[in-house]
Amino acid sequence: MQELRPVYKRILLKLSGEALMGDKDYGIDPQVITRIAEEVAQLNRLGVQIGIVIGGGNLFRGAGLAEAGMDRVTADHMGMLATVMNSLAMQDALERLGIFARVMSAIRINEVCEDYLRRRAIRHLEKGRVVIFAAGTGNPFFTTDSAASLRAIEINAEVMIKATKVDGIYSADPVKVPDAWRYEQLTYDEALHRKLKVMDATAIVMCREHDMPLKVFNMNRRGDLIRLVGGENVGTTVVRG
Ligand code: UDP
Repeated sequence: MQELRPVYKRILLKLSGEALMGDKDYGIDPQVITRIAEEVAQLNRLGVQIGIVIGGGNLFRGAGLAEAGMDRVTADHMGMLATVMNSLAMQDALERLGIFARVMSAIRINEVCEDYLRRRAIRHLEKGRVVIFAAGTGNPFFTTDSAASLRAIEINAEVMIKATKVDGIYSADPVKVPDAWRYEQLTYDEALHRKLKVMDATAIVMCREHDMPLKVFNMNRRGDLIRLVGGENVGTTVVRG
C-alpha cells in the first residue's frame, strides 16, 4: 500500500461527547475511544500535529440540566467538567498506544491536567504531542464547537475537522428525509442561512471571520479521518464563497 502523504501539517479535530458513547446511552465505550485514538495515533506517526477538542454531551449538557431546573451557569460548569473527563479518557487511550498527549484545560484544575496556555500548547504540538483542549472555552453559555473554532484559530491550524455521525452535511436530516443529498462543498453563509445544523452559528461565524476551513465527516467510518487528512474527497468542506 502506498504511504499516505498528509496534506495538512496541523489540524484541530472536534469530537462530540456522543462520538465516544458508541451504542451506549451514556458514558464512554472503551472500544470506541480506542478505535478513535488509533486513527489519531496513525496521523501522529505520520507527523501531523493534532489538537483535539472533545465535547461532553455523553455525560452532561448545560442546556439540558438547566431545562430540568438547574441554574444555567452551574449546569455549564458541570458540562465543562464532563469535557475534562472525556479528555482524560482520550489522553489515556492515546498513551496506551504509545503516543504522547497532554490535556490542557480552560478552567484551572492543576491536579489533573495542565492549564491552557497558547504558547505551551503550540510547543507541545511542535514536539509531536497530541494536545487535548478540555473545558471548552472556559465560559458558560458557549459550546465545544465554539471552543474548537477558537482553538483552531489560536493554534493556527490549517483546518478544523468536525467528526459527526453522518458522512458530511446534508440538505436535510438523512435519517428522516430519504432523498436528502450530501454537499461536497458549501460556503459559511450557506451553512448559516440554510440552518443545516452542522455547528452552532457562533462557531461557524468564527471560522468565517478567520477563514478557517471546516471539514465535516463521519467518525464511524473507519479510515475516513486518515483519508481526509490524505487529501481525499471525504465529507463536506465549508469554505469562503
Ligand atoms: N460548555 C460550556 N462552555 C464551553 C463549552 C462547553 O459551558 O465553552 C458546557 C455546556 O454546558 C455544554 C457542555 O459543556 O452543554 C458540553 O459541551 P457540548 O454540548 O458542546 O458537547 P458535545 O455536544 O460536543 O458533546
